[in-house]
Amino acid sequence: MHIIVCVKQVPDTANVRINPETNTLIREGVESIMNPFDEYALEEALKLKDEHGARVTVITMGPPQAGVILREAMARGADDAVLLTDRAIAGADTLATSYILSLAIRKLNTKPDLVLFGKQAIDGDTAQVGPGVSEFLKYPLVTYVKSLTVKDGVFTAETMMDEGVDVLEGKLPVVMTVVKEASTPRFASLGGWINAKETEIPAWGAKEIEADIAQCGLDGSPTKVVKIFAPPVKTGGKKMDGLQTPGDAVNEIVRLLKEKGGR
Ligand SMILES: Cc1cc2nc3c(=O)[nH]c(=O)nc-3n(C[C@H](O)[C@H](O)[C@H](O)COP(=O)(O)OP(=O)(O)OC[C@H]3O[C@@H](n4cnc5c(N)ncnc54)[C@H](O)[C@@H]3O)c2cc1C
Repeated sequence: MHIIVCVKQVPDTANVRINPETNTLIREGVESIMNPFDEYALEEALKLKDEHGARVTVITMGPPQAGVILREAMARGADDAVLLTDRAIAGADTLATSYILSLAIRKLNTKPDLVLFGKQAIDGDTAQVGPGVSEFLKYPLVTYVKSLTVKDGVFTAETMMDEGVDVLEGKLPVVMTVVKEASTPRFASLGGWINAKETEIPAWGAKEIEADIAQCGLDGSPTKVVKIFAPPVKTGGKKMDGLQTPGDAVNEIVRLLKEKGGR
């Protein structure tokens, strides 16, 4: 069984800084981490490795320094990794990102059994890349997975729904997005770090994955982030003290609304 996990490097901060010219994130000088949701996807892959001896490959698309999260994933137990980095693929939107990841996945293995993603990235927050890659790979998609088992090429997955869970069963290959309720990510071992430090991680660009440049990066992205800004913090709001009953509260709210509405 070959499992490929897509992990994204994200800023380790709530207050991201945006480049006012390109409307893309300023990553320089900002602490970066593995996207927290991807840690759960990686853990699901490592559990299947423990149980079935699966091969686990981690890939990331990002600036050269994104290689750090690949070493972290290998220190936790992943077998190999690939860094997708190239100026031509930078600033990509979710479609261009999905395109690049799907080409790299195909180059790694024409038919991987399982491709795992985190539920979403904490910076772009679109949750679109997993579904995008499943479309490019023409693989079925199962999202919001909170538990996963595999037996004889058949998966059983519990998926989070608003009202409880759905239990889905199906044949591999499949693309899945994983939620944080799935597991507790393991820590990297010292031995794991030593191995990871010594491992050569290949860096692929648009050429190595035979990407059509017209579908890559900022220019190849149909979505243009026109403006990113921190929404104004809402202030004010009226605290309604001393009202005896809910009915009193309703009457007071109606009175205020009428006053505001001038009627
Ligand atoms: C503030 C902000 C707003 C943005 N808004 C949009 C927007 O509205 N539309 C748009 O198209 N793009 C947008 N982008 C760009 C978007 O971040 C990138 O396209 C990005 O590569 C993927 O989208 P995402 O961050 O939403 O990831 P998501 O789709 O939320 O990520 C889901 C999963 O996909 C995998 N993944 C995502 N990116 C990578 C990667 N680079 N390498 C490996 N695995 C990955 C991870 O497993 C991750 O958990 C925005 C970026 C920022 C910072």
